[in-house]
Amino acid sequence: MLKKQRTHFPRESERVSEQSQKPTMAPISFQTLQLNKQLLKALQEAGYIAPTPIQQKAIPLILKGHDVLGVAQTGTGKTAAYLLPLLMQLKYPKGTYPRALILATSKELVIQIAHSLADMAKYTNLRHVCLYGGIGPTQQIEAVNQGIDLLVSTPGRLLDLYHRCILNLRSIRHLVLDEADKLLDMNFWPQLRDILAILPGKRQHLLFSATMAPKVMKLTEEFLEWPEKAIITPQATPVTTVSQQCYQVPNVATKARLLAWLLTDTKIFCKVIVFTCTRKTAEDVAHFLRRQVAGEIRVIHANKGQNTRISTLNAFQEGTVRILVATDVAARGIDVSQVSHVINFEVPTLPEEYVHRIGRTGRATHTGKAITLANPAEAYYIRKIEELMRRKIMVAPLPPTWVDTATSFEEQQAMARTMDMQRQKEDPNYLGAFHQKKRKNIVKKSLTRSKR
Ligand code: AMP
Repeated sequence: MLKKQRTHFPRESERVSEQSQKPTMAPISFQTLQLNKQLLKALQEAGYIAPTPIQQKAIPLILKGHDVLGVAQTGTGKTAAYLLPLLMQLKYPKGTYPRALILATSKELVIQIAHSLADMAKYTNLRHVCLYGGIGPTQQIEAVNQGIDLLVSTPGRLLDLYHRCILNLRSIRHLVLDEADKLLDMNFWPQLRDILAILPGKRQHLLFSATMAPKVMKLTEEFLEWPEKAIITPQATPVTTVSQQCYQVPNVATKARLLAWLLTDTKIFCKVIVFTCTRKTAEDVAHFLRRQVAGEIRVIHANKGQNTRISTLNAFQEGTVRILVATDVAARGIDVSQVSHVINFEVPTLPEEYVHRIGRTGRATHTGKAITLANPAEAYYIRKIEELMRRKIMVAPLPPTWVDTATSFEEQQAMARTMDMQRQKEDPNYLGAFHQKKRKNIVKKSLTRSKR
């Protein structure tokens, strides 16, 4: 990622609530966290004035060698919370094989972590390499062969290079799971289990995320012993800097028109991520918007090539792209400064993903707005999200003269079928009113038909 404007996070001692009742204590600074002068210099250059709450809590625990479970809101400095103590512990370059492994769920996140690492390690001689798929491994292999201290990788590429006997992992003493709950979910868990089996037994585990459901916590017991918890806010607490609202709309065509109507205001909606649930819908929505609104619009999803994904994120960061239409590949970890709005064109079916999506705005104390467009079949997921966040999402009124587009029979049927499935899920005795049928391509048809 490119250079971003740094923000002053409140120190623990500056935070209000119960803190103000306690006797005054010396403010915690990076110096009091006993970081070495190389790191302090790098932090000063990066514009970090004081440690954020998660940094204040996690850094001392990690330095003491504990396994740590870190939970804090999106955009509140989790990356530095594990990178700084890791760099302190590794101290100087040693040997050829990596001693710390940071696993992340996507190549964008790997690259972003590597950028933060480069910033923080710039006055140390520690060597790092990042590994991810989607490109040939030649350059990565060359970098690995030159000797490394820290490795940042996606699970897939790590296992690939390990099985080809290119990577030697026997010196790993620290393992970080960034977006830990995602790495522990069904999709990544088999790979993660293989990695855990390969790594040396004696190692420190550092798990960080903004969401860590109780059942995920339970899974961590398989490999963590007595972890210390650095929990700043209950899991899935959205940052207060993001205001949230939801428009209730009857169908895809109305969603599309409303989206175009909102995005017409280029001043207010100056840096926007529009999230969809599928790659196909992302492409369809971008195609629709290109005909309707000003400014460059780009799409990011797992099918886009490596270079396209990186250059798209860079252009969005720089501001040359106003609207980024994305699937959940961009929901986690991606740190683009001053995103004005996150718009959910489709409501995520996993409530945790909502918290991560909206966490792309309102980062590092900037303010942001999250707008969700929900049809009747998505009201169920809104309820699940509200339960997870333990707060309501305000319903916004439609513009005064707004007229909805009529819902096609096909779409009505599809929504009725989805709601039927939701009801079956909630009530095992309910047999359902529909036979399962293949989902038809309603989004594309509606967007092609829809005009503003
Ligand atoms: P993260 O949650 O690690 O993605 O960090 C979110 C943003 O906060 C990034 O842009 C970081 O550069 C920034 N950040 C992290 N820690 C601090 C700090 N102590 N002071 C100022 N900015 C920070």
